[in-house]
Amino acid sequence: MTMNKEQAINNEELTNENGLNFIEQEIKDDLAKGKNGGRLNTRFPPEPNGYLHIGHAKAFIMDFGAAEKFGGTCNLRFDDTNPQKEDTEYVEAIKRDIHWLGYDWEDRLYYASDYFPQLYDLAVRLIKEGKAYVDEQTSEQIAAQKGTPTQPGQNSPFRDRPIEENLDLFERMNKGEFDEGSMVLRAKIDMANSNMHFRDPIMYRIIKTPHWRTGDKWKVYPMYDFAHGQSDYFEGVTHSICTLEFVPHRPLYEYFVNELADESYCPRQIEFNRLNLTYTVMSKRKLLQLVQEGLVSGWDDPRMPTLCGLRRRGYTPAAIKDFINRIGYTKYEALNHIELLEHSIRENLNKEATRVSVVQNPVKLILTNYPEGQTEEMFMDNNPEKPEEGKHGMPFSRELWIEQEDFMENPPKKFFRMTPGKEVRLKGAYIVKCTGCKKDNDGNITEIYAEYDPESKSGLPGADRKVKGTLHWVNAATATDAEIRDYDRLFAVENPSAHEGDFRELLNPDSLKIRKNAKIEPWLAERIKVGDNYQFQRLGYYTVDPDTTPDHIVFNKTIGLKDTWAKEMKK
Ligand code: ATP
Ligand code: MG
Repeated sequence: MTMNKEQAINNEELTNENGLNFIEQEIKDDLAKGKNGGRLNTRFPPEPNGYLHIGHAKAFIMDFGAAEKFGGTCNLRFDDTNPQKEDTEYVEAIKRDIHWLGYDWEDRLYYASDYFPQLYDLAVRLIKEGKAYVDEQTSEQIAAQKGTPTQPGQNSPFRDRPIEENLDLFERMNKGEFDEGSMVLRAKIDMANSNMHFRDPIMYRIIKTPHWRTGDKWKVYPMYDFAHGQSDYFEGVTHSICTLEFVPHRPLYEYFVNELADESYCPRQIEFNRLNLTYTVMSKRKLLQLVQEGLVSGWDDPRMPTLCGLRRRGYTPAAIKDFINRIGYTKYEALNHIELLEHSIRENLNKEATRVSVVQNPVKLILTNYPEGQTEEMFMDNNPEKPEEGKHGMPFSRELWIEQEDFMENPPKKFFRMTPGKEVRLKGAYIVKCTGCKKDNDGNITEIYAEYDPESKSGLPGADRKVKGTLHWVNAATATDAEIRDYDRLFAVENPSAHEGDFRELLNPDSLKIRKNAKIEPWLAERIKVGDNYQFQRLGYYTVDPDTTPDHIVFNKTIGLKDTWAKEMKK
């Protein structure tokens, strides 16, 4: 199932010479034929029962993107047909996340609940035409009569109930006279149809939980298949783009829509493959469970595949769009590698992120021949990819912080960092030669000593003497403390959804590491703003977390510098 090079080729096959994917091509053809009066109107129909994840982004980038590309419009419609699971918190979060990716529905914000009256009227009409009936069987009985793909189902004993009785019961269902689960309204189609969705599908069920928009006005609520196509129709949607699991629903979509539409206007459904990502899950039910059980810190935990999680992790809209564009829209189910998403953010931040110096695991370095009390300013490139962004100053003095990992007393052969007797360059500053270290009673290294070469200052003529290693550093006297949250994969296995049993047991127990006393340079400390992205020299890309307060700076690691995907594709 993994997306490999062959599938990458299939993606290309589905993209034609105009650079259009297969859905865009269908839209273009419909417009050329003058269908629906030459109108294009798409919609994104989230159910407000959870936060959006990157899979939803794939869907709405298609919906809003196609409208943008062909001069059409895209509606945002909340599919709020199940009052038991829905909430305004989700509505607001969904709007925020769509805006974050740069899309806007303008005045086209709709709710499926707006159509409850029309849907109800249509149901009544279908009853009157003998096309729907009230079934009093339990859901188990109904399921038992469904048959199998190769065996026809059985008719319900209530199937041929007189029209008047159906009308009366349906009305009373909606008045709240009957218990939840005691009755449903079913379409009377064909219990032997080879498409199981045609075997008298349920149109309405009784729910007594008040709806967050319509209150207790309704006691019957339409099922997805009865609500979706008609909502498209009421809104004037022309292209209803969704994921492949709706392919078998399409004939039913058309069946119900045909009850309303004519040649002048009729919406159509087109399906594409959903986004699945390695080392995570996309099911809203499972994501909700992680949140509710405290297995992550919330919907926006930086390990989550949600858009708010990715945002908090430091992902940018540009990187997400780039990734979606790379995986493309096809008719084949695939499992997409998270490394490709990481490649996209790395490429984006390499271009955009300002470079700064941070030591995450500090140990003191003392330059014994550097004058006490003296400070110099070293100048560091803000972004070598954008020379026009210039440089910023960084103080340098006798005592510095360097990474513990950059020193070894007895190193293996190819260790080109700091070790007694060897020279290294301190980035943007001097070459220093290590002379030794001090340890505490437990053998932990507490200080490292070195001598600097005053002739080797970066940028001076003749100072570019070659040494093998270059280390980053931060001036001790002017450093500010910060917390760094370092993340790993949320799940320990590549495809958690393919495993039987409890998915929570597949969580990676080491997905969060917190370092409390990182040292950051003063120029960075002065400009801390939540959501800003930085490259920490030699360490990776980081972003300022919203937990930051005036006296406690928190960074999230977005991604390391090493690109495993680029390496993989070169093989
Ligand atoms: P549910 O199981 O609650 O229906 P859902 O993820 O399908 O979950 P919706 O709110 O119904 O949630 O999704 C809105 C739209 O996003 C749908 O049109 C759906 O096809 C699309 N979508 C959902 N998940 C993905 C995914 N992983 N990749 C691409 N599109 C997706
Ligand atoms: Mg859905």
